[in-house]
Amino acid sequence: MNNPFEYEVVQDIVRTAAARVLGCPADSLSPATALVRDLGADSLDLVELRCELEDRLLVVMPNQSVLDHLVELTGTSDAVYGPDGGVTALAARVLRDSAFRYDEEQARAGTPPYEIARSTTVANWAHFVSTLFDHLPGSCPECAGTKAAVSPAQRAECADCGTALTPQAGDTVLAATVRTAAGSETAWAEATCV
Ligand SMILES: [Zn+2]
Repeated sequence: MNNPFEYEVVQDIVRTAAARVLGCPADSLSPATALVRDLGADSLDLVELRCELEDRLLVVMPNQSVLDHLVELTGTSDAVYGPDGGVTALAARVLRDSAFRYDEEQARAGTPPYEIARSTTVANWAHFVSTLFDHLPGSCPECAGTKAAVSPAQRAECADCGTALTPQAGDTVLAATVRTAAGSETAWAEATCV
């Protein structure tokens, strides 16, 4: 089924959820606001944000990070972390090209993983949540309709019968985008030989 959400709508939902969790006005957050670096969010705040988004949108957020998924995919942390502890060129590229869409500033070869986590913005979260809705079921579980729409409560629903729709789980979607971003086996085998 189609992704019924405009990206801007998802971004607004994420911004509002983050503002509520952190107790600040929604209009004080922009897409570029980094929740940890700019607003001092701690790990409990991030757990709360995940729960808030899960309840709000009927999604399951991932338990593993992009880098966790890349270690799993390549079978070796050497492909992901350099000798200095910063991320490898491959990992930086996967961070940019997978669902959270980090930018060049956030994810470069050699960037320490904690810096990447600290720099995660409203826009990164919104890109991820938006990507989740690219992974709705093929057809409605109730009426087999194939068109998704946004309900008045701003959730995904079947356009024909109004059944609430849930996308694939966060880790499944994240793993798929990490796999695509990493490209062929050869590409990461080369990257580990630097
Ligand atoms: Zn339906």
